[in-house]
Amino acid sequence: MTTPGFSPIRQILLKVHSRCNLACDHCYVYEGADQSWRSQPMTMSPAVAALAARRIAEHMRRHDLPWATVILHGGEPLLAGRDRLGEIVAAVRSAVPPGRTVDVSVQTNGLLLDDAYLDFFARQGIRVGVSLDGGEQANDRHRRYAHGGGSYRAVAQALALLSGRPDVYSGLLATVDLRNDPVEVYEELLRFRPPRIDFLLPHGNWTTPPPGRPAEQSQTPYGDWLVAVFDRWYGAGAPETRVRLFDSLVSLLLGGPTGSESVGLASIDLLTIETDGSIEQGDVLKTAGPGMAATGLHVADHSFDDALAHPALAARQAGLAALADECRQCPLVRVCGGGHYAHRYRAGSGFRHPSVFCADLARLIGHVRGRLYSDLRVGAAL
Ligand code: SF4
Repeated sequence: MTTPGFSPIRQILLKVHSRCNLACDHCYVYEGADQSWRSQPMTMSPAVAALAARRIAEHMRRHDLPWATVILHGGEPLLAGRDRLGEIVAAVRSAVPPGRTVDVSVQTNGLLLDDAYLDFFARQGIRVGVSLDGGEQANDRHRRYAHGGGSYRAVAQALALLSGRPDVYSGLLATVDLRNDPVEVYEELLRFRPPRIDFLLPHGNWTTPPPGRPAEQSQTPYGDWLVAVFDRWYGAGAPETRVRLFDSLVSLLLGGPTGSESVGLASIDLLTIETDGSIEQGDVLKTAGPGMAATGLHVADHSFDDALAHPALAARQAGLAALADECRQCPLVRVCGGGHYAHRYRAGSGFRHPSVFCADLARLIGHVRGRLYSDLRVGAAL
């Protein structure tokens, strides 16, 4: 049974390893204001994995969920090693009652991805997503080793293997940098034949604005960047790949659901479990300040329903009512949803603000709506 007023948790992000073999300067875990990773155990232990598995199974039973998604995350999750990853996944799957499904995926920087890992993921039914920001120059602006060298070539080798494995390949995750040409980035990513691309806006808020986001709201550099990619993607003769943000906008504009926490009014359905078993909100909130993602709860003592009752998560379940006045009166609100929760933050007054990307989101949504509705009108007239 669902707790009144709350949507159940359907996505559980398991931090299986808390360190990384890259030192990307745009990383919100290691380079952000919150440095709590330093006190986390390196790897999730079998004991914590068993407690997490019990909580997942309990939540699925309590809310009669036929499926849930577990994302193996880090740091760099492949640093945990195949044996530990196998133990963690087995703990979750064996705890879940028969007839219910747990889809497992892993989000990696790709550096340790080899045939042995790919075979392991195939055997375990684990889908693999890789982070890559574009071609070599674009990617290596940020995604560098601690010694300063770029990671592109090593990741490209791994992607050459992964692109031949549609049985495990889920897609690519790219963070937008305004200095990179948008169409070039998209086409560089396409070279690795991803089933799906996720474009992530760089994290920032009203107190710490994203790079190149001017205070002047008439300028829309991120909106313009994404519009260029949208036009290239939408204008392709045949579908080349799915793009989660664009798919979500098209769906929302047609009255459907969102597939992204960056747009739309859907309640948050994701929780993070750290390597020590702490229950947290998404990592992205760590960009707002130390402790912003924390709930003070732990899988040993607290259920996911306890987490949903936490004021920070309850606010993210309130939909339209939790938004700023500007958003509630905005004609785009049902599609935009006020943007990503973390991007609304302003020190001293919290999250009840429009997104720091408000003007960019309005530009993108207006453009997507214009193209979509114009095509629908043409189609209807034929
Ligand atoms: S963030 Fe801006 S565009 Fe989005 S709903 Fe709020 S006011 Fe509208």
